[in-house]
Amino acid sequence: MRLARFVHDGTEQIGAIAGDAVIPLPGRASVLDPVTDVPRLPGIPLAEVRLLAPIARPPKFLAAGLNFEDHLKETGMARPASPVFFNKQSTCVAGPHDDVHKPRVSDLLDYEGELGVVIGTRCRHVPAAAAFEVVAGYLVVNDVTVRDWQLNSPTMTLGKSFDTHGPTGPWLTTADEIADPHDLRIRTWLNDQLVQDGSTRDMIFDIPTQIATLSTAFTLEPGDIIATGTPAGVGIVRQPPLWMKPGDVVSVEIDGLGALRNTIIDEPDSTVAR
Ligand code: MG
Repeated sequence: MRLARFVHDGTEQIGAIAGDAVIPLPGRASVLDPVTDVPRLPGIPLAEVRLLAPIARPPKFLAAGLNFEDHLKETGMARPASPVFFNKQSTCVAGPHDDVHKPRVSDLLDYEGELGVVIGTRCRHVPAAAAFEVVAGYLVVNDVTVRDWQLNSPTMTLGKSFDTHGPTGPWLTTADEIADPHDLRIRTWLNDQLVQDGSTRDMIFDIPTQIATLSTAFTLEPGDIIATGTPAGVGIVRQPPLWMKPGDVVSVEIDGLGALRNTIIDEPDSTVAR
């Protein structure tokens, strides 16, 4: 099942994607059979709704760094001996079609198309062999990065966590629909230019290893998102560097999971909290 959060006629709802429509599931998703029940319910054309981030505020938004062979090579960084993780603050989550802010403080705005794993079960000390038992499903992530703010600090947290810099979606695809999450093509476009074209088979540390490592340290909870790393092609390593600027449209698509499509805008004055 592909589960979406969306707004229609001013009302926030949850629904199941069926073709080009979304079928509202008002609190009943757990008792519906997706094969026999969902097709019989009335749907709303996707063109008439605004899709929201599938997980509005993940308890944790974790991300793996330097986790694809080709990306590691393009950065010239040393191969990590163990998985490298950082946090994106959960306030950075944005919807699949929301605007992404070009910060006031930087022009070094970069994209990173990634597979996001969504945890479905509260868990600790998960053995790698049992890791998929705690996965609810998958979604597309753009690990938007402010490169200078990222590299100013070993934790990377600030440069990975600007508001709107966590587009996710377009919906949550439940794990049963994905035969092999390590065989998915990831592509990123900046406007019409294909800038990343990789596969999740090129992960250095696979999904079970990531879950086992993280859950060795702390409890994973339903709704936690793990962005599993980006393939080659990021803007910072290009000659000349390729930065996202206002007016650009960045798209990330993963086979079987759908696509994000976000427009870059100047950070608006309305973001100043009072
Ligand atoms: Mg990343």
